[in-house]
Amino acid sequence: MATKKATKKAAGSGAYGPGEYVADVTEGIARVEDLPAPRHIKRSRSYPKRPCPRCGHLAYRNRTCTRKLHDLGSLADGRPRELFVTYSQHRCSRCKIFFNVDLSDLADPNSHYTRRVVALAVRLVIEDGLPYRAASWHLWRDHRVFVPFATVQNWSEAGGKKSR
Ligand SMILES: [Zn+2]
Repeated sequence: MATKKATKKAAGSGAYGPGEYVADVTEGIARVEDLPAPRHIKRSRSYPKRPCPRCGHLAYRNRTCTRKLHDLGSLADGRPRELFVTYSQHRCSRCKIFFNVDLSDLADPNSHYTRRVVALAVRLVIEDGLPYRAASWHLWRDHRVFVPFATVQNWSEAGGKKSR
């Protein structure tokens, strides 16, 4: 990028100071597989019994499932974070229905990303006015979460409509 090169030249002359330009270590890496490996973090939302959302009856756990969520990573170690959330599925013996433990505080249903990733991406676009590609790069460079720019666009368009 032109702006980065300009900053590099301005810093120049071998001076090492707090404003020295240092490229992100992952800059230029083209394949996702070559990026730093994610740190896996286990979370449990598995319970022996949960109240049925329809009738309130305490329903026993039927089985457990695992959901993988991309979360904000850490620049301390430069690695992304992936949450592996084990959650329980229950069966209400009265209503004969199956239901899962609510994870909506963590992520939207069917989403592969935590809510805080989506919220940050939307803020970058709506508040800071970043183009989708720039927001995608920012999310990786400063928060170590890889979000394709088209996904950032989808979230921003959905979020923009909601707030109106
Ligand atoms: Zn029930």
